[in-house]
Amino acid sequence: MHSFLRAGKHEVVEDFMLSGFFINITILISFIYLFHRLLYKTPLSTSSPVKQKLAAGIASGFLGLVLLVYTIPLNETTIIDLRLVPVTLMAVFGGWMPTLITGGILAFGRLLMDFSMSSVPAILLLGLSVGSGALIHALVQNVWQRAGWMVLVTNVYMTLLLSQLLPFDKWAAAALFYSFASLLGTAIAVYMFVHLTQVNQMFNRYQYQAYRDNLTTLYNQRAFQELLGQAAEEYPASNRPLSLLVLDIDYFKQINDTYGHLEGDMVLKQLSHVIVASIRPDDVAFRIGGEEFGMILYDCDETHALTIAERIRTDVARTPFILSGQPAPQFITVSIGVGSYPAPEKNVHALYELADQALYQAKRQGRNCVCSPESVS
Ligand code: GH3
Ligand code: MG
Ligand code: MG
Repeated sequence: MHSFLRAGKHEVVEDFMLSGFFINITILISFIYLFHRLLYKTPLSTSSPVKQKLAAGIASGFLGLVLLVYTIPLNETTIIDLRLVPVTLMAVFGGWMPTLITGGILAFGRLLMDFSMSSVPAILLLGLSVGSGALIHALVQNVWQRAGWMVLVTNVYMTLLLSQLLPFDKWAAAALFYSFASLLGTAIAVYMFVHLTQVNQMFNRYQYQAYRDNLTTLYNQRAFQELLGQAAEEYPASNRPLSLLVLDIDYFKQINDTYGHLEGDMVLKQLSHVIVASIRPDDVAFRIGGEEFGMILYDCDETHALTIAERIRTDVARTPFILSGQPAPQFITVSIGVGSYPAPEKNVHALYELADQALYQAKRQGRNCVCSPESVS
């Protein structure tokens, strides 16, 4: 801004006006990108946790300080900067708390640069912008409308202040250029913010979907392969036990044939709840495919795994499964195969094969039971 907002003498070269503007825009874009990588993996909004709002306020305050340093020379006597854009961003997305923190950091930084009467208008402008930002956030719902109101309000404050401090022929041009710069700067910053928020949301959703089974929301076959592969690398070296359960519903085809595929799906969903409730929080359950489920039990030897498998089997047999079109609940049974590491001459890669063979043994034995590799031999 004009010297009332800034301390010290500046060499102002008009040719630098455009490059100064581009530098400011570039700073805005790179910081907003960085913030979205680090702080806004879940979007910043009114309902964000206090911790995220605090971090957002501090980060935006820092961005404001950087913008305070990289100024845009307008002419020999007037320089402007885009310090109010981070305040606007917080008012648009985060609410009063990050807006206040950003404003506070900027005021503090401004006073550190120059503690004198000439700082008064700068602090006043910040205070008014923060207060208006908090109010606009509370009163206006749409982010673009909030941004529009912020640009309007901060430009009114700026124009009024400039009119008090500059001769007429200077303030009109300064106010006009500031309006243009702040409008464009805010538009680009808000666009980046909205766009990166969408990118993060899509990334989170696709990452979730890539590893989850659509019907049960358990981990899927891809996650099963990856986690088993990971364990295969880690466990043999550490000499810790690891177990795998493979579970298959008995005579599931009959449920589909009798009540229909959709009712069969309901059974699969409810079964996933029974499975999750029967294992420890650190263990992981998967729908490997169809009506076959897998459970990786970390640091769990075969004896313990057999106990857990037996518990799951009895939990399932006791559970009344509710079908939407049937007044009476249905009861199902499951067969479970157990594979454990360490096992003689077997590495963890072969665990699935081991558990699968045990599962087939359980089916051969008449179903509704648990088998280990010993039962196979
Ligand atoms: P077994 O005791 O030998 O396992 O008998 P089963 O009937 O359970 O085994 P089978 O392999 O003959 O049938 C599995 C059935 O699982 C056939 C298929 O219709 C059903 N199924 C597979 N995926 C789904 C699904 O996503 N939804 C529903 N409703 N059924 C499925
Ligand atoms: Mg089956
Ligand atoms: Mg099957």
